[in-house]
Amino acid sequence: MDLFEYQGKQFFAGFDMPVSPGEIAFTVDEAVAAAERLGPPVMVKAQVHTGGRGKAGGVKFAADIDAVREHARNILGLDIKGHIVGRVWIEKASDIVEEYYASFTLDRSAKQHLGMLSAEGGVEIETVAEENPDAIAKIWVDPVDGLTEDRCRAWVEAAELNPKVTDGAVELLLKLYRAYVEGDADLVEINPLIVTPDDQVHVLDAKVTLDGSSTFRHEEYQQYDETQTRDEREAAAHVKGLQYVGLEGTVGVIANGAGLAMSTVDVVNQVGGRPANFLDIGGGANADIMAGALEVINNDPSVEAILINIFGGITRGEEVANGIIEAMKRVKIDSPIVIRLDGTNADQGRAILEPSLSENLQMEATMLDAARLAVELAGGTR
Ligand code: GDP
Ligand code: MG
Repeated sequence: MDLFEYQGKQFFAGFDMPVSPGEIAFTVDEAVAAAERLGPPVMVKAQVHTGGRGKAGGVKFAADIDAVREHARNILGLDIKGHIVGRVWIEKASDIVEEYYASFTLDRSAKQHLGMLSAEGGVEIETVAEENPDAIAKIWVDPVDGLTEDRCRAWVEAAELNPKVTDGAVELLLKLYRAYVEGDADLVEINPLIVTPDDQVHVLDAKVTLDGSSTFRHEEYQQYDETQTRDEREAAAHVKGLQYVGLEGTVGVIANGAGLAMSTVDVVNQVGGRPANFLDIGGGANADIMAGALEVINNDPSVEAILINIFGGITRGEEVANGIIEAMKRVKIDSPIVIRLDGTNADQGRAILEPSLSENLQMEATMLDAARLAVELAGGTR
């Protein structure tokens, strides 16, 4: 779950990290009212789930109320990398002496948390990593041991920040680590982390991604789920409880199990086609689930053919076959379907499907052949 900057700052504030006061506004009038309460100068900041807002004209300094009105008018409705700005964060402006970068994320291959810290903040970290990789101090933290103050201090020293802020940075980074772990975050990033004229470190931007599977531990994360931006297809699938990721291609994919769904996406690519989506219907493939999945795929105007790839494990082949037939009675499908059914009781399942086969419902014995046929039906290879 991606948080807006202001939600990220509120999340950080909950861990006692220093952020600026501000208010969220959905209209120009609300932005002006917020700025009047905060007192100028303020920043007017687009809230979208993407970075690089400053460069795109989505972060503006306003010395007075007239400037707030003008900037809010320009920024609300602005298109930033395909994200339309629907809300702005009005924040008390800070004076900046230096801009740093700090983050924690998971390094899966190291099976440890990875902290990155750099005195060269304010710019994209990818650029720093490319042009001056030595300017990024990295620390790997074993989740069992946690981050000790001594190690954190050594990390800050390695990053060669202004020595005046060493203590403040250590304190803030320990809090950032706590927020990352206790908040079940996948990523916490502060860019820039600034030094103010009175030598305080302060959070000026926040990028936070929370683990969507941790919501049972954090009731308050419901509010973040509600503000997720999903494409229309993903939103429809989410409501049905399906694991769906929209892609750009023409072959709709339905499979059971995340691994098989990913393999199916790979095989469609391998034979020269382009998948329209990833969709895992999970272990049970009953008629309700299958009908829901077919509906979501059928509503995608890019889809030219549908590939259903089921490997029966606990789910038996005949159940799957009945599910497909029942689902097809409920949803009128516009595109031809290719089925590959294997695993437990596959023979019984195929026997059930056999009488229903037609040009619009074909069956192949292997995943590779099924993918080839689906790609052909979708208009051939690219
Ligand atoms: P991003 O472009 O999406 O990363 O948005 P940021 O929140 O990082 O803002 C971009 C840049 O605007 C920062 O790197 C700062 O240089 C500048 N900026 C943001 N807030 C302030 C502020 O309160 N005062 C000043 N002087 N500059 C700011
Ligand atoms: Mg930033």
